Amino acid sequence: ASSPNNLDAFWMPFTANRQFKSNPRMLVSAKGMFYKNAEGQSILDGTAGLWCCNAGHGDPRVVNAVSQQIAEMDYAPAFQMGHPKIFELAARVTGMFPSGLDHMFFTNSGSESVDTALKIALAYHRARGDGARTRLIGRERGYHGTGFGGISVGGIVANRRTFGTMLTGVDHLPHTHLPEKNAFSRGQPEHGAELADELERLVTLHDASTIAAVIVEPVAGSTGVILPPKGYLERLRAICDKHGILLIFDEVITGFGRLGAPFATDYFGVKPDLVTLAKGLTSGTIPMGGVVCSKGIYDAFMTGPENMIELFHGYTYSGHPVAAAAALATLDCYKDDGLFERANEIAPYWEDAVHSLKDVPHVIDLRNLGLIGAIELEPIPGKPTARAFEAFLKCYEKGLMIRTTGDIIALSPPLIVEKSHIDQIFDTLRTVLKEVA
Ligand code: PMP
Repeated sequence: ASSPNNLDAFWMPFTANRQFKSNPRMLVSAKGMFYKNAEGQSILDGTAGLWCCNAGHGDPRVVNAVSQQIAEMDYAPAFQMGHPKIFELAARVTGMFPSGLDHMFFTNSGSESVDTALKIALAYHRARGDGARTRLIGRERGYHGTGFGGISVGGIVANRRTFGTMLTGVDHLPHTHLPEKNAFSRGQPEHGAELADELERLVTLHDASTIAAVIVEPVAGSTGVILPPKGYLERLRAICDKHGILLIFDEVITGFGRLGAPFATDYFGVKPDLVTLAKGLTSGTIPMGGVVCSKGIYDAFMTGPENMIELFHGYTYSGHPVAAAAALATLDCYKDDGLFERANEIAPYWEDAVHSLKDVPHVIDLRNLGLIGAIELEPIPGKPTARAFEAFLKCYEKGLMIRTTGDIIALSPPLIVEKSHIDQIFDTLRTVLKEVA
């Protein structure tokens, strides 16, 4: 029988949890910037959960909105039915985007948003009589969730190797990571925008008339915080425009203030055709995601060239009223507390704190943008990921939650972070990195 104490009954995914049974890290409550674990220790949240709890934990506005909504109406079917809050939410989210990005389809996760966006892109071309446009282009080291769409366009070979059948007609652009040690560049790298021109190479190879869409994370998060060089996203946009290719920004991480602007779309001043969202939409409280696009693209998807049945798409929990209530209250927190502006204001302090680790042992690169940080460690020969994982364990013992991906430590605190929390994060890391092997 399973009980919370029967750890055999539950398998925790990911590297960081292989040693879970010998060293259980049970979180039991959360408030503001801190978790509390089963031993009663406070754990500073250096990662906003999994890049999602942008408004911090347990804001009473969200708690009340969720409990009220369950009491008022727990569920409404997503098909042929609606409820006022989901229309209000669609209007509020799309109202945060530049004009033209004014329609929204609701999902329950980032992975579903990615699948949905890819399907919308294919349906759009088909509806326009351009059905030969079926090829999809992602990037090496891109992460777009764990659905078949996401692992097909995603650039992590290990995530798809086991599963054989993938979407066909997918290519990957090289990622923009400049593998120079000790670059320590602040913000966006100056060089490397020309890597966008690899898209022209794929266009020549396959013919533009076969390519439906390009999907990129404006800033790659889960694969180690890889920042776009200045001008890179602009160049991708220009090439897509030239050849009638749709550009999809996967803003599951960069959305909702992470860069100190509402979306990466605003931060970089580049307007994609479709945007995938999740995580910060509800600040991690209730699962919800979405895809934002223009009316023209949305209508092609929802009505289609032939009939609705052929283009059927949607989820039982699309536009869930409780998630909608959580999202609306979360947007209130962002707006009323000026959290995106706050993130922007504190970003220079964050940048200095990240780069204060320059001379700390094992550190071979530091990267930052908005409230994202990355500390790249020199791998131990023959033991990739070991050093970062040891740092993760030691940070946790000292009351700090970080995230590791390979030998890179990724940081993304809730946007309510104060300077004192930032000091605590980097003091802990400085101590821990001197201790690790
Ligand atoms: N896209 C990006 C850019 C992500 O970072 C993630 C999650 N880390 C996903 C998609 C998948 O989101 P989910 O885990 O909610 O399916």
